[in-house]
Amino acid sequence: MSRTYSWSRRSLLKRLALGTTLAPLAASLTRRAAAAPAMLVSPGSPEAKAVQYTEDAKSAHTAQPGSTCANCALYQGADGSAQGPCQIFPGKEVKAAGWCSSWAAQM
Ligand code: SF4
Repeated sequence: MSRTYSWSRRSLLKRLALGTTLAPLAASLTRRAAAAPAMLVSPGSPEAKAVQYTEDAKSAHTAQPGSTCANCALYQGADGSAQGPCQIFPGKEVKAAGWCSSWAAQM
């Protein structure tokens, strides 16, 4: 009886030790994943080609002068950011200097 108790206590202690050891690693991985920037939209991808996305608005022949992702209503990056999320590319980011045919003026 006491041996069973002892074994259970030993098992519990091992699990606690393992959890204590792995907790900082898990926290570190979580922080790293949260800090990692989202993947940029590739201009060569089908989704980007569908809207003529380019990372440099100056190279977009049909873009209105001065229109870039940074001043598009669908851009969700912080002011002054080099890149940020765009509503038409969920989970990815676009260059602030970019442009696509879905550009919309901010209200
Ligand atoms: Fe850039 Fe706007 Fe096109 Fe998104 S919708 S890629 S922010 S121009």
